[in-house]
Amino acid sequence: MEDKPGLCWAALLVILLVAALAGPLRAAEEPPLAPLQLDYHLLLTHPNLHLVTVEITAGKVVGDSLDFVMPAWSPGRYAIYDFAKNVQEFEAAGAQGQSLPWTNLDKQTWRVDLRQAGGIVKARYRVFANDLNGTFSQFDSTHANLNGSSIFMYVAGHKPDPLTLTVDAPKEWQLISGFSDSTSERTFHAPNYDRLVDTPLEVGAETKLAQFQEQGKMIRVAVHSYGNDNTDPSKLREGLQKIVHAEMAMMPAPDFEHYTFIFHFAPDISMGDGMEHLNSTQIIIRGSLSGNLAEALETAAHEFFHLWNAKRLRPAALGPFDYTREVYTPSLWLAEGVTTYVSYVSLLRSGLWTREQFLARLADEIRTLEEEPGRTLMSAESSSFHAWFYDRSPQMQQTNFANSTISYYNKGALLGMLLDLETQSRTRGSKSLLDVLSLLYHKFYEAPRATYYGPGRGYEEKDVLEAVNEVAGSDFTPFFDTYVRGTAPLLYNNDLAAAGLALRISVPGNSPPSIGITPLPDDRGVRIFAVQQGGAADRAGLGRDDLLIAVDDQSLATEDLDKRLKAYPPGASVPFTVERRGQEEIINLILDPPVASSYTIQELSGATGQQILIRNHWLRGKN
Ligand SMILES: [Zn+2]
Ligand SMILES: [Zn+2]
Repeated sequence: MEDKPGLCWAALLVILLVAALAGPLRAAEEPPLAPLQLDYHLLLTHPNLHLVTVEITAGKVVGDSLDFVMPAWSPGRYAIYDFAKNVQEFEAAGAQGQSLPWTNLDKQTWRVDLRQAGGIVKARYRVFANDLNGTFSQFDSTHANLNGSSIFMYVAGHKPDPLTLTVDAPKEWQLISGFSDSTSERTFHAPNYDRLVDTPLEVGAETKLAQFQEQGKMIRVAVHSYGNDNTDPSKLREGLQKIVHAEMAMMPAPDFEHYTFIFHFAPDISMGDGMEHLNSTQIIIRGSLSGNLAEALETAAHEFFHLWNAKRLRPAALGPFDYTREVYTPSLWLAEGVTTYVSYVSLLRSGLWTREQFLARLADEIRTLEEEPGRTLMSAESSSFHAWFYDRSPQMQQTNFANSTISYYNKGALLGMLLDLETQSRTRGSKSLLDVLSLLYHKFYEAPRATYYGPGRGYEEKDVLEAVNEVAGSDFTPFFDTYVRGTAPLLYNNDLAAAGLALRISVPGNSPPSIGITPLPDDRGVRIFAVQQGGAADRAGLGRDDLLIAVDDQSLATEDLDKRLKAYPPGASVPFTVERRGQEEIINLILDPPVASSYTIQELSGATGQQILIRNHWLRGKN
């Protein structure tokens, strides 16, 4: 390659500058192309093979090619799953049914050659689906439970286009979704692709449906239970009615006509799930309706509050979405953790929880954070930003997450509690965290529409601080610097005292001395999953995967480690038989004092009038 003559440095600089400026513009949301006529057709005909067939007909196509893209992830679950891996038998045809050539641009993009298309392309493919959870999909002889991102491709550049969806399913199966309050409708209109995939479908014959009204809105409760127990959903419906009533009294009226809870109770799945959507939610409980009612209601209280916080009031990165790659936000502590905190408040106000249950759960959240070694390394914002590493992301490589991370759910819930108490304290009980969330909702969701995606616009992290400052009439910058983007210890008692309460941490009687490990059960003893830095195991040189076989020659295959440790006082030097890479050796550990693992929140005696006022306001029950 040779230098181009006559191109001076100044001109090169201008070209580079223009290129640099053009970059972000090109990378932004697709330029407005003339809309296509998009019809999605879903065929549910092969339950035994777990294969769903999708046909996407795109009319009014122009140009040489059209790209069909399968999402890499699904909003609400911050993990790259590459749904394209379950796509098979892709084909494309033109206006006369003639086959059109296509190529794969990358693992998730199918580029169809339009030159012989005649203005219409019909793409057709099948998707393997056999996972019951809030992100993947399942099609079997009992139902089709479908989450759109794992099933539907979009046409590149045309996510904003309106579309229709037609579902072909066995006649006796009813179709339940946020698209319609009728179970017999089979054709739906969506204003854009994002709404299509934000509306999960439950299609089956076994799903029971109940409903109630709240503030003129229809709330439906769909229950598909695989357990053999009593599946009468009336108790669940009664509990949900209390939660919905409490949460709708806490926030501005949301803009939906009907809302659907889609529950699955399955005793034999590996883990449950909950996933928020604009006017529905998928809740999957590992267990039975009668045995896990409290868990189902707790999950529902969290998911229903998402219809305000996360779905409508949303971080700027979360809608419209780039489905091809990770999107980043530092605000999941607010979108998820504060939702958890407010769900506890709503369980209290609905009458489903007592004051004692509410305070016990908050104390438990505090214990969880205080027992995380990662709390001194990772902030709430950083935990949010790095969600892609650990929000159910597949892990093939070993990690040190047990020592290096915290949960934005957990710390976010505690920040919610502290912000709530601090706001109440600084405003002498006249304002609370709910006023902050309502202000944000008005400011951002009810703002002029910024994109095709939906009403309003997303918020940035700085907007949260501004809203807190505005509601409280005082500056929370130090709070955010120290506790939200910083890793300083949370000073619970400062804020609990405002409500005449105090956190008490103590060592439960008969607690064993500590050796500072996270254990994993093993047939032959105790496997070390993580070693806490500076603890007894660390000082003795023990590490991850070491197998503790015996304490003082007493086998750990037959006796519990804690029970064995109780035989010694803190400070004792105890010989452990340790197996490491197949070799046994004896290693002495100097035992640490027992861990203070009892956390309770108690009333302060001699509380002042204002403390009692805030306490009663904070802990008021059924409204
Ligand atoms: Zn189902
Ligand atoms: Zn959530």
